[in-house]
Amino acid sequence: MSMKHLLQIYVKPYLLRMAAGLVIKFTGTIMDLFLPWILAYMIDHVIPEKNTSQLLYWGLVMLVCSFLALAGNVIANRMAAKVAGEIVEWLRHDLFEKVMYLPSAGVDGWTKPALISRLTSDSYNVHNMLSRIQRLGVRAPILLLGGIIMTLNLDVALASVLLCLMPVLAVIMWQVTARSVPMYTRTQEAVDGFVRLVREDIAGIRVIKALSKTEYEKERFDVWNRQVVERERRAGMTTAILNPSMNLILNLGLVLVILAGAYRVQAGTSEVGTILAFLTYFTIILNAMLSISKMFTILSKGQASADRISQVLESEDERQLELQIRNWMEEQTEASEKSLPQTKRYQTEEAPFVAFRDVSFSYHPGKPVLQHISFSLKQGETLGIIGETGSGKTTIAALLTGLYQADSGQILVGGKDIRKQKFGELREQIGIVFQNDTLFEDTIYENVRLGRELEESQVMKAIRAAQADEFVREKSGQSQEQLNIRGANLSGGQKQRILIARALAGEPKVLILDDSSSALDYRTDMELRKAIRQEYSSVTGILIAQRISSIRHADHILVLEDGRMLGYGTHEKLMESCRLYQELYRMQTGEGRMP
Ligand code: ADP
Repeated sequence: MSMKHLLQIYVKPYLLRMAAGLVIKFTGTIMDLFLPWILAYMIDHVIPEKNTSQLLYWGLVMLVCSFLALAGNVIANRMAAKVAGEIVEWLRHDLFEKVMYLPSAGVDGWTKPALISRLTSDSYNVHNMLSRIQRLGVRAPILLLGGIIMTLNLDVALASVLLCLMPVLAVIMWQVTARSVPMYTRTQEAVDGFVRLVREDIAGIRVIKALSKTEYEKERFDVWNRQVVERERRAGMTTAILNPSMNLILNLGLVLVILAGAYRVQAGTSEVGTILAFLTYFTIILNAMLSISKMFTILSKGQASADRISQVLESEDERQLELQIRNWMEEQTEASEKSLPQTKRYQTEEAPFVAFRDVSFSYHPGKPVLQHISFSLKQGETLGIIGETGSGKTTIAALLTGLYQADSGQILVGGKDIRKQKFGELREQIGIVFQNDTLFEDTIYENVRLGRELEESQVMKAIRAAQADEFVREKSGQSQEQLNIRGANLSGGQKQRILIARALAGEPKVLILDDSSSALDYRTDMELRKAIRQEYSSVTGILIAQRISSIRHADHILVLEDGRMLGYGTHEKLMESCRLYQELYRMQTGEGRMP
């Protein structure tokens, strides 16, 4: 179903071009088929008559046929390559777009390596399939059928030798193909695991070295490496039977044909040229059979890949999710219009700019990560979120940006329920720095701008506010525009400042910093907060931190433990009422410690 779906969408617009290519290919192939026949005719009928003009005429015909065969095949192959390339380019484009729009829960579900392999090896397999079908899909069957017809025409008795051998050939090919296809599938699975390991090891090479895990990882690598080679070898061992045994049968057949042919020539029932043509057709037929069996392998591989790709393409992305949410919202408002008191209550409140109203959420059903979270910020206010790792702080940031959907409750951003906003509209208002965000291999300036249409002054202002101008100047003596980031040539704190500058540069209404000043020294952290307050005074901030010093001046502070609100209020209020907050404060400032 899915493969069919893929063909319907992506191949349909190319059907005309494909058909034209196939007609050209057909012509070229027919020419190929006629060549041995003409040769036989010349040897048996033209040469014995010693008529030069006849000889020249047939020679010319052969030349023209050869040329047409060459031209037809080359043109058709080029067209096929172009069509296959264009289809897969389009498919990859859509697939990439899909992956970009996948909701975070969807990415978690597919896993990143699986998405990467769909964009790389799977689309390569589909490309291979499309080009192979066009190149051989018509040619091989015509050569096979045409070859048989030609041999039957030339000499029925000799053709019967061939026809007796063909079932044997077919059985061998079928057996080998049927066995090797699942073997190659298993090899591909091993390769996937292998690639995953290589990716992780190269990305994490520092920690592997630092923890002296090098030997352990080498062993793990060797296990996968061996497995890939072993599976490849097994598949190779099976397919290795194919070509030599086909050759054996070919040669056997040739011997039989020559033996039978010699008798028939002597008996005057056949001629030398016919035997010669026969041998050529025999080779053509055999090669056509081999091509067909290879085509089956590529087809089954390509089909598996096409299925995998279309599963992703057919999965739901944020664009459909948006629609669903909107429809759901409409139903809700209709329902709530009937129960007026509740709507009235919200209407009388002063509308907050950013808020959670009794929000609960779980990544997996039954394992709640956030429970009954509420907070409310007016425009320009700041919320600090503090709590141990795993308490759900990052999850709050992910819900605010609509990366995941809350199970219950209401989330407001920009004074509006986020379900009433398009994802793009929502995210435009937000500047966010996640933990371990990526810097790209480009200049610092471009890393801050990130392809957005921003004024230079906006970018520079953000770099200054994020306290990044200082080290940029120190580092380089070059201008910021020129300084390239390559791999690991920045410290943790420097990276964080560039990421913060990136979030600020778009002049967001809401700024979310997820533990993104943790690598800054106290003074820089303070300067940063001061600069944001002064330069971006209307921004509503959400600061997630481990250090109380980073958030103690926030207008509201939310203390989280295991996804529950343990406290909510100002620093002073929490110091009075929240035991966990007091404990954290004491630990971090050293106050009240026993001597
Ligand atoms: P914090 O930011 O406070 O360290 P998180 O919000 O990152 O906490 O995580 C809260 C809990 O949710 C943790 O138990 C974590 O294991 C789980 N979690 C985080 N992200 C995912 C995810 N994508 N899928 C499933 N569980 C997750």
